[in-house]
Amino acid sequence: MIELKNVSKVYDNGSIALDHVSLHIGKGEFVFVVGASGAGKSTLIKLLSYEELPSRGSVFVNGIEVNKLAKNRVPYLRRKMGIVFQDFRLLPNKTAQENVAFAMEVIEAPRRLIRRRVRDVLDLVGLVGKADALPKNLSGGEQQRVAIARAIVNRPLLLIADEPTGNLDPETSRDIMEVFKKINHMGTTVLMVTHDKTLVDMMNKRVIEIDGGKVVRDEQKGGYDD
Ligand code: ADP
Ligand code: ADP
Repeated sequence: MIELKNVSKVYDNGSIALDHVSLHIGKGEFVFVVGASGAGKSTLIKLLSYEELPSRGSVFVNGIEVNKLAKNRVPYLRRKMGIVFQDFRLLPNKTAQENVAFAMEVIEAPRRLIRRRVRDVLDLVGLVGKADALPKNLSGGEQQRVAIARAIVNRPLLLIADEPTGNLDPETSRDIMEVFKKINHMGTTVLMVTHDKTLVDMMNKRVIEIDGGKVVRDEQKGGYDD
């Protein structure tokens, strides 16, 4: 699913964000990426989503080497992954179901399929009664459920989450983690950057720790701290 071979990322200003990183993440895995601020976590996500290119080494996502990808193929490939952010990033003037439907409208899916998928996915994340609500009338946890629904409605193989519980209280965070768990059990690979020690310790999943651009720990059933 994801493979990094000897990947380094040096930004134009000389910052070394990733330093000879190699790692492999298989289909269906649930992986936490942890590390201090500035460690290189966001850069790792940006390499996977084609927002940045590696300076050295190779990045493979779903068998495709991103370094060798033609620019006009990037949008097509991005649809194979869903991304969820800390600040939800919903469209404020669209309802919950319109936010989710929009992700399918941009790829020109048929109307009937959109209707069915949106309903199914809102059900999956536990939001059926709120389909017509605008984001401003939803709680943080509900907004994140909408964002997750939008990220998975096109059935990506990979779901990336960048601090998805960073703006949520502990109880809501646990509920949101249950949603990710359910999606993972359906076969989607989940890669989650987080600072939430309680959640990482509770889940007992694979933990990759990055420090100074290097992978300093990779445990199959790890906690937040080693
Ligand atoms: P994290 O997500 O773990 O906080 P980042 O990947 O954002 O870490 O950053 C890793 C390093 O790369 C930091 O030293 C940061 O200052 C630097 N960096 C990140 N993005 C850029 C950029 N666009 N230009 C220059 N330096 C950057
Ligand atoms: P479900 O599991 O929700 O019933 P399926 O994936 O089985 O949905 O698809 C149902 C129908 O929709 C099939 O005829 C399938 O070919 C079609 N379909 C699935 N995905 C797409 C898509 N992205 N665009 C257009 N049609 C699709």
